[in-house]
Amino acid sequence: MGSTGTAIVIGAGVIGVTSAYALARKGWTVELVDAAPDVAAGASRGNGRQLSYSHTGALASPSLIAKLPQLALGYDPAFRLSLRPDLAYARWLTSFIWQCRRGAYVRNTLECSRLASESRRAMDRLLDDHALSFGLRDAGKLVLLPDTKSIEDARATLRLTAQFGQPQDIVSRSVAIEIEPALEGFAAQFAGAVYAPQDQTADCALFCKRLLETITAEYGAIFRGGMRAVSIEDGKAESVVRYANGDARSASMVVVAGGHEVNWLLAPLGHRQAIAPMKGYSFTAPVGRKAPEVSITDSANRLVFTRLEDRILVAGRAELGESWAAVDADHLQAMKRQAQAVMPNVADYSASDEGWAGIRPMTPNSLPVTRKLSPSLAINVGHGMLGWTLAMGSSNRLAQIVGSPG
Ligand SMILES: Cc1cc2nc3c(=O)[nH]c(=O)nc-3n(C[C@H](O)[C@H](O)[C@H](O)COP(=O)(O)OP(=O)(O)OC[C@H]3O[C@@H](n4cnc5c(N)ncnc54)[C@H](O)[C@@H]3O)c2cc1C
Repeated sequence: MGSTGTAIVIGAGVIGVTSAYALARKGWTVELVDAAPDVAAGASRGNGRQLSYSHTGALASPSLIAKLPQLALGYDPAFRLSLRPDLAYARWLTSFIWQCRRGAYVRNTLECSRLASESRRAMDRLLDDHALSFGLRDAGKLVLLPDTKSIEDARATLRLTAQFGQPQDIVSRSVAIEIEPALEGFAAQFAGAVYAPQDQTADCALFCKRLLETITAEYGAIFRGGMRAVSIEDGKAESVVRYANGDARSASMVVVAGGHEVNWLLAPLGHRQAIAPMKGYSFTAPVGRKAPEVSITDSANRLVFTRLEDRILVAGRAELGESWAAVDADHLQAMKRQAQAVMPNVADYSASDEGWAGIRPMTPNSLPVTRKLSPSLAINVGHGMLGWTLAMGSSNRLAQIVGSPG
């Protein structure tokens, strides 16, 4: 079946759903598909929920490079680097190491900050146009810095990103505790913090559901769950998507937004992207005696603590090269023990839930790839650690690149 003016978006995580919205606004008739029966089945489901418009530092940085041997040997409990004989992964790691140079880090962080500001504006516009309810809260964010060196690094990053107008400042330990009294119970020392008063939190999976309802009700989009795309034929004027159930559909635009799995579809077309999986975990627990209202990022232990209504969500761990999405009970327990050790009073850890694991689609420079590959094929992929934050901005860019139908 062929269809002029139809765009098929493959993948209904937060990137696919926001891409579908941005294309529908441009006049496309959008068909959003996912292998799972519902939206937000992948990394967009249980993430840290932070709309981290201010904290946009790239993962590849001069401070990380010195730690790589330690990570490869498994000495960091929160960040593991798996080494395996895979040429594409080896190329990715080489490129990642190259991106750790200071100049590259500065460029990548600036570009990410620019996209985050665009995202914030796009989210504000969306909410002006549609009254969506998905637990959005102006929580503010404190990023705890362990020592003087990390404060100096953070100060340099703030100077760089000040041009994008997201208010944030370095505060002393005592001021951080005044802002968020729950930090008094923070067992590890921290030397200071970055405070971003306007950063937000919200439920990413609920956002995907609400936005899907909006685009189906108001823009005529359709969602087809349980449809695993197995191949794409790029016929230039139109592309054909074939599904595991034998179905095939053609469209004048196909957008691949399949998170960490996109190379199954793109590599056979000669468009392999440099994307490596990086697994992470989250769990929730009832609030404890001293639960924070402000979002806390413990940068030394790579943990984020986010207040839900009467629960605390803890997200963290970085397992680079790991694409098995199931929860590894030992790894989850290790993260729970670590969270309890640093913030013992914020949650009733004994009553925590069964936890969740998801895969961040990482590019070497921590920047997504939003690009047209042919007249009828485009990608919006590789949003890494900040996909929830960057979704609206990069999907807006996608719609600008793709343009209107016809
Ligand atoms: C532990 C953790 C904490 C995080 N915390 C934050 C945070 O606080 N703030 C933030 O901004 N970001 C955070 N992130 C990152 C963010 O969640 C991701 O960047 C984002 O969800 C990626 O969205 P996506 O749509 O690209 O991928 P996904 O959400 O993984 O969606 C991809 C979808 O594509 C589908 N798919 C794949 N291949 C096919 C196919 N062939 N056919 C059909 N469907 C297909 C999959 O089923 C899936 O539903 C976190 C991630 C993790 C793991």
